[in-house]
Amino acid sequence: MHKPNGRLRLLVDLDGVLYRGMTALPGVGEFFAWVEAAGHAYLLVTNNSLRTQAEVAGNLRRMGVAVDPERILTSAVATSAWLRAQAPGGTRVQALGGSGLQQALFSPGSVFTPDWQSPEWLVLGQDFDITYQKLAAACIAVQNGARFVVTNPDTTLPTEAGLTPGAGAWQAVVTLVTGVQATVIGKPELGIFETALSMMPTEGEVVVVGDRLDTDILAGHRLGATTALVLTGVSTRGEVSAFPVKPDYIFENLRDLVAQWS
Ligand SMILES: [Mg+2]
Repeated sequence: MHKPNGRLRLLVDLDGVLYRGMTALPGVGEFFAWVEAAGHAYLLVTNNSLRTQAEVAGNLRRMGVAVDPERILTSAVATSAWLRAQAPGGTRVQALGGSGLQQALFSPGSVFTPDWQSPEWLVLGQDFDITYQKLAAACIAVQNGARFVVTNPDTTLPTEAGLTPGAGAWQAVVTLVTGVQATVIGKPELGIFETALSMMPTEGEVVVVGDRLDTDILAGHRLGATTALVLTGVSTRGEVSAFPVKPDYIFENLRDLVAQWS
Protein backbone atom coordinates (compact mmCIF):
# COMPACT_ATOMS: atom_id res chain seq x y z
CA MET A 1 0.00 0.00 0.00
CA HIS A 2 1.22 3.53 -0.82
CA LYS A 3 2.32 5.68 2.08
CA PRO A 4 3.97 9.09 2.37
CA ASN A 5 7.70 8.93 1.67
CA GLY A 6 10.86 10.18 3.34
CA ARG A 7 11.00 12.91 5.93
CA LEU A 8 7.58 14.46 6.30
CA ARG A 9 6.34 17.88 7.32
CA LEU A 10 3.33 17.07 9.49
CA LEU A 11 0.62 19.65 10.25
CA VAL A 12 -1.38 18.00 13.01
CA ASP A 13 -4.67 19.23 14.46
CA LEU A 14 -5.16 19.05 18.22
CA ASP A 15 -8.77 18.61 19.35
CA GLY A 16 -10.23 15.33 18.10
CA VAL A 17 -6.81 14.12 16.95
CA LEU A 18 -4.52 14.13 20.02
CA TYR A 19 -7.23 14.49 22.67
CA ARG A 20 -10.89 14.87 23.36
CA GLY A 21 -11.85 16.96 26.37
CA MET A 22 -8.97 16.28 28.75
CA THR A 23 -8.36 12.70 27.60
CA ALA A 24 -5.54 11.67 25.25
CA LEU A 25 -6.77 9.63 22.28
CA PRO A 26 -5.44 6.16 21.36
CA GLY A 27 -1.98 6.12 19.79
CA VAL A 28 -0.76 9.58 20.82
CA GLY A 29 2.34 8.16 22.51
CA GLU A 30 3.12 5.90 19.54
CA PHE A 31 2.58 8.85 17.18
CA PHE A 32 5.22 11.05 18.82
CA ALA A 33 7.62 8.11 19.16
CA TRP A 34 7.25 7.44 15.42
CA VAL A 35 7.68 11.15 14.53
CA GLU A 36 10.86 11.32 16.62
CA ALA A 37 12.35 8.05 15.35
CA ALA A 38 11.66 8.90 11.70
CA GLY A 39 12.91 12.49 12.06
CA HIS A 40 9.70 14.03 10.74
CA ALA A 41 9.13 17.75 11.25
CA TYR A 42 5.81 18.67 12.83
CA LEU A 43 3.67 21.49 14.13
CA LEU A 44 0.43 21.17 16.08
CA VAL A 45 -1.93 23.55 14.31
CA THR A 46 -5.21 24.57 15.95
CA ASN A 47 -7.99 26.98 15.00
CA ASN A 48 -8.57 27.60 18.70
CA SER A 49 -7.37 31.11 19.59
CA LEU A 50 -8.41 31.14 23.25
CA ARG A 51 -5.34 29.71 24.94
CA THR A 52 -1.65 30.60 24.75
CA GLN A 53 0.91 28.12 23.44
CA ALA A 54 2.13 27.57 27.04
CA GLU A 55 -1.43 26.86 28.23
CA VAL A 56 -1.98 24.32 25.44
CA ALA A 57 1.38 22.68 26.21
CA GLY A 58 0.39 22.55 29.89
CA ASN A 59 -2.89 20.81 29.06
CA LEU A 60 -1.03 18.30 26.89
CA ARG A 61 1.48 17.65 29.69
CA ARG A 62 -1.39 16.85 32.08
CA MET A 63 -2.53 14.25 29.53
CA GLY A 64 0.96 12.74 29.46
CA VAL A 65 2.09 14.37 26.20
CA ALA A 66 5.28 16.45 26.37
CA VAL A 67 5.43 19.05 23.59
CA ASP A 68 7.53 22.19 23.31
CA PRO A 69 5.16 25.23 23.28
CA GLU A 70 6.92 26.44 20.12
CA ARG A 71 5.58 23.38 18.30
CA ILE A 72 2.04 24.66 18.86
CA LEU A 73 0.62 27.11 16.32
CA THR A 74 -2.70 28.57 17.39
CA SER A 75 -4.81 30.70 15.06
CA ALA A 76 -4.02 33.60 17.41
CA VAL A 77 -0.25 33.22 16.89
CA ALA A 78 -0.76 32.76 13.14
CA THR A 79 -2.94 35.89 13.00
CA SER A 80 -0.27 37.90 14.82
CA ALA A 81 2.42 36.62 12.43
CA TRP A 82 0.25 37.39 9.42
CA LEU A 83 -0.49 40.89 10.72
CA ARG A 84 3.22 41.54 11.34
CA ALA A 85 3.85 40.83 7.67
CA GLN A 86 1.14 43.35 6.66
CA ALA A 87 1.34 46.15 9.18
CA PRO A 88 4.20 48.43 10.20
CA GLY A 89 5.34 48.81 13.82
CA GLY A 90 3.03 50.86 16.03
CA THR A 91 -0.10 49.77 14.17
CA ARG A 92 -3.21 50.31 16.30
CA VAL A 93 -5.18 47.10 16.84
CA GLN A 94 -8.52 46.47 18.52
CA ALA A 95 -8.65 42.82 19.55
CA LEU A 96 -11.66 40.87 20.84
CA GLY A 97 -10.49 37.54 22.20
CA GLY A 98 -9.04 35.53 25.05
CA SER A 99 -5.57 35.37 26.60
CA GLY A 100 -4.18 33.48 23.60
CA LEU A 101 -5.00 36.34 21.25
CA GLN A 102 -4.11 39.14 23.66
CA GLN A 103 -0.69 37.61 24.34
CA ALA A 104 -0.01 36.86 20.68
CA LEU A 105 -0.73 40.48 19.71
CA PHE A 106 0.37 42.51 22.70
CA SER A 107 3.05 40.62 24.66
CA PRO A 108 6.09 42.76 25.64
CA GLY A 109 8.10 43.71 22.58
CA SER A 110 5.06 43.50 20.31
CA VAL A 111 4.91 45.91 17.39
CA PHE A 112 1.17 46.46 17.89
CA THR A 113 -0.59 49.01 20.09
CA PRO A 114 -3.96 48.12 21.65
CA ASP A 115 -6.48 50.78 20.66
CA TRP A 116 -10.26 50.88 21.05
CA GLN A 117 -10.66 54.52 19.98
CA SER A 118 -9.29 54.65 16.43
CA PRO A 119 -7.96 51.19 15.50
CA GLU A 120 -6.46 50.54 12.07
CA TRP A 121 -7.21 46.81 12.40
CA LEU A 122 -10.02 44.93 14.08
CA VAL A 123 -8.99 41.39 15.08
CA LEU A 124 -11.74 39.05 16.20
CA GLY A 125 -11.27 35.70 17.92
CA GLN A 126 -13.26 33.53 20.29
CA ASP A 127 -14.18 35.68 23.27
CA PHE A 128 -15.95 34.23 26.32
CA ASP A 129 -16.34 37.75 27.68
CA ILE A 130 -18.12 39.12 24.60
CA THR A 131 -20.58 41.95 25.30
CA TYR A 132 -22.92 44.14 23.29
CA GLN A 133 -20.52 47.03 23.87
CA LYS A 134 -17.57 45.07 22.44
CA LEU A 135 -19.51 44.00 19.35
CA ALA A 136 -20.82 47.52 18.86
CA ALA A 137 -17.27 48.92 19.09
CA ALA A 138 -16.09 46.31 16.59
CA CYS A 139 -18.83 47.28 14.12
CA ILE A 140 -18.03 50.96 14.48
CA ALA A 141 -14.29 50.34 14.02
CA VAL A 142 -14.94 48.53 10.73
CA GLN A 143 -17.32 51.28 9.54
CA ASN A 144 -14.56 53.78 10.31
CA GLY A 145 -12.19 51.89 8.03
CA ALA A 146 -10.42 49.41 10.31
CA ARG A 147 -9.40 46.30 8.39
CA PHE A 148 -11.28 43.24 9.60
CA VAL A 149 -9.40 40.05 10.44
CA VAL A 150 -10.77 36.89 12.07
CA THR A 151 -8.60 34.24 13.74
CA ASN A 152 -10.85 31.32 12.79
CA PRO A 153 -14.23 30.97 11.09
CA ASP A 154 -15.75 28.28 13.35
CA THR A 155 -19.34 29.38 13.92
CA THR A 156 -19.87 26.84 16.67
CA LEU A 157 -18.04 25.60 19.72
CA PRO A 158 -19.29 22.14 20.69
CA THR A 159 -19.89 21.56 24.41
CA GLU A 160 -21.35 18.60 26.25
CA ALA A 161 -24.67 20.46 26.49
CA GLY A 162 -24.76 21.41 22.81
CA LEU A 163 -23.41 23.92 20.29
CA THR A 164 -22.41 27.39 21.51
CA PRO A 165 -21.19 30.41 19.48
CA GLY A 166 -17.62 30.42 18.16
CA ALA A 167 -15.51 33.21 16.64
CA GLY A 168 -17.32 32.80 13.31
CA ALA A 169 -20.58 33.77 15.01
CA TRP A 170 -19.12 37.13 16.12
CA GLN A 171 -17.64 37.50 12.63
CA ALA A 172 -21.13 37.03 11.16
CA VAL A 173 -22.55 39.74 13.41
CA VAL A 174 -19.93 42.29 12.32
CA THR A 175 -20.36 41.38 8.64
CA LEU A 176 -24.18 41.58 8.88
CA VAL A 177 -24.01 45.01 10.47
CA THR A 178 -21.25 46.51 8.31
CA GLY A 179 -21.48 44.57 5.05
CA VAL A 180 -17.71 44.06 5.24
CA GLN A 181 -16.19 40.58 4.74
CA ALA A 182 -13.31 39.55 7.00
CA THR A 183 -9.90 38.16 6.12
CA VAL A 184 -9.85 34.76 7.84
CA ILE A 185 -6.57 33.18 9.00
CA GLY A 186 -7.66 29.79 10.40
CA LYS A 187 -8.59 26.59 8.56
CA PRO A 188 -10.06 26.08 5.97
CA GLU A 189 -8.36 29.32 4.84
CA LEU A 190 -4.64 28.96 4.23
CA GLY A 191 -3.06 31.72 6.34
CA ILE A 192 -2.48 29.41 9.29
CA PHE A 193 -0.89 26.64 7.17
CA GLU A 194 1.26 29.11 5.25
CA THR A 195 2.49 30.50 8.56
CA ALA A 196 3.16 26.95 9.76
CA LEU A 197 5.22 26.10 6.69
CA SER A 198 7.26 29.29 7.08
CA MET A 199 8.33 27.95 10.50
CA MET A 200 9.37 24.51 9.19
CA PRO A 201 12.10 22.98 6.99
CA THR A 202 11.63 23.69 3.30
CA GLU A 203 11.91 20.02 2.23
CA GLY A 204 9.58 17.09 2.75
CA GLU A 205 6.10 15.94 1.79
CA VAL A 206 3.49 18.04 3.60
CA VAL A 207 0.90 15.91 5.39
CA VAL A 208 -2.18 17.33 7.14
CA VAL A 209 -3.68 15.18 9.89
CA GLY A 210 -7.10 16.25 11.17
CA ASP A 211 -10.54 15.17 12.34
CA ARG A 212 -12.70 17.63 10.36
CA LEU A 213 -13.43 17.45 6.64
CA ASP A 214 -14.66 21.06 6.44
CA THR A 215 -11.58 22.61 8.08
CA ASP A 216 -8.50 20.34 8.27
CA ILE A 217 -9.02 18.24 5.16
CA LEU A 218 -10.36 21.10 3.02
CA ALA A 219 -7.43 23.36 3.98
CA GLY A 220 -4.95 20.53 3.35
CA HIS A 221 -6.47 19.94 -0.07
CA ARG A 222 -6.29 23.66 -0.92
CA LEU A 223 -2.65 23.64 0.16
CA GLY A 224 -1.90 20.73 -2.15
CA ALA A 225 -0.85 18.58 0.82
CA THR A 226 -1.42 14.89 1.49
CA THR A 227 -4.41 14.62 3.84
CA ALA A 228 -5.23 12.08 6.54
CA LEU A 229 -8.57 12.02 8.35
CA VAL A 230 -8.71 10.39 11.78
CA LEU A 231 -12.14 9.27 12.99
CA THR A 232 -11.61 10.22 16.64
CA GLY A 233 -13.24 13.65 16.38
CA VAL A 234 -15.99 15.43 14.47
CA SER A 235 -16.22 13.88 10.97
CA THR A 236 -17.45 10.33 10.40
CA ARG A 237 -16.68 7.80 7.70
CA GLY A 238 -20.26 8.23 6.46
CA GLU A 239 -19.73 11.97 5.90
CA VAL A 240 -16.74 11.38 3.62
CA SER A 241 -18.82 10.21 0.66
CA ALA A 242 -21.05 13.32 0.80
CA PHE A 243 -18.13 15.78 1.13
CA PRO A 244 -16.73 17.14 -2.18
CA VAL A 245 -13.09 16.84 -1.10
CA LYS A 246 -11.80 13.37 -0.18
CA PRO A 247 -8.99 12.74 2.29
CA ASP A 248 -6.08 10.71 0.86
CA TYR A 249 -6.15 8.45 3.93
CA ILE A 250 -8.71 7.58 6.59
CA PHE A 251 -7.65 6.10 9.92
CA GLU A 252 -9.62 4.99 12.95
CA ASN A 253 -7.12 6.82 15.17
CA LEU A 254 -3.42 7.78 15.37
CA ARG A 255 -2.48 4.21 16.37
CA ASP A 256 -3.89 3.01 13.06
CA LEU A 257 -1.93 5.75 11.21
CA VAL A 258 1.36 4.79 12.85
CA ALA A 259 0.75 1.08 12.22
CA GLN A 260 0.26 1.73 8.50
CA TRP A 261 2.91 4.38 7.95
CA SER A 262 5.83 3.20 10.08
MG1 LIG B 1 -10.04 19.07 15.49
